[in-house]
Amino acid sequence: MANLDNRLYIVATPIGNLADFSYRAVEVLRSVDCIAAEDTRRARLLMQHYGIQNKLISVHDHNEEFKAPELVKQLISGGSIALISDAGTPLISDPGLPLVRLAKEAGVVVSPVPGACALVAALSASGVAVSRFSFEGFLGRTSSSRRALFTEKLNDSTTWVFYESSHRILACLHDLAAIFPAERKIAIAREMTKVYETIIYAPIHEVLSLVEDDKNMRKGEFVVIVESCTVKKVSEISAEQLRILTILLKKQTVKEAVALAVEITAGSKKLLYREALRITQAKSE
Ligand code: SAM
Repeated sequence: MANLDNRLYIVATPIGNLADFSYRAVEVLRSVDCIAAEDTRRARLLMQHYGIQNKLISVHDHNEEFKAPELVKQLISGGSIALISDAGTPLISDPGLPLVRLAKEAGVVVSPVPGACALVAALSASGVAVSRFSFEGFLGRTSSSRRALFTEKLNDSTTWVFYESSHRILACLHDLAAIFPAERKIAIAREMTKVYETIIYAPIHEVLSLVEDDKNMRKGEFVVIVESCTVKKVSEISAEQLRILTILLKKQTVKEAVALAVEITAGSKKLLYREALRITQAKSE
């Protein structure tokens, strides 16, 4: 590829496995006048891997408003630029919007060079029905902000997806378990395309137990998918209520366990009783 016209190319980069990069992406990075990269050190690793030599300019969250006009000037005067982020598709929970907007306002053609995107990769391999979904990006850092969002989403008929870090995955799953019915299915996709890739699709309480019991399951990068509520509900008590009830049933009679669970979780006596009977019956079978 030679003589690129004065476009701004939005180039997706791999989210783990460096081989997930297209011929066209390599050619574009080789041929543009410069590469605007979120993290120049990471960009260099990718460039080294593919033998790409080109000029790098650092464009990240903290300087993009300031850098965008300078880069657009370069584009208007006939230059071509490729924008890349740390990993995956730029602008998807990543910098780039000011540059794209300004370039379009100036009449510069903006072209995507599609490739990896963690949310799409997770959806494609999760087993969740994905004909309709919404994306929430990163959630709030506090438990109260997450629970407020989860309450809003409780009866959402669309599957929804968010990004989560290793620091917060466990707390986040606890919050999900406190708000959603125990049997609501979720998927977590961890370290996709890397050595420890793990993709699990199961009811919230099962995923929570797995992540709680295995510290390795809390390492790395995560995409979480919450299945829509149109899927038939088997139980309407939350995963947290189910957990407490199960513990109480190990020591108490059904009546006592249910009374205590109602007191501790402020849950419905009828639903907790029904669930207690289901658990004890399942044990005796
Ligand atoms: N622009 C990127 C994209 O297209 O996916 C996302 C950038 S965002 C700053 C980074 C987040 O994406 C991570 O915190 C994690 O939630 C998710 N992510 C990125 N790579 C991942 C991977 N290999 N496996 C699972 N999640 C990943």
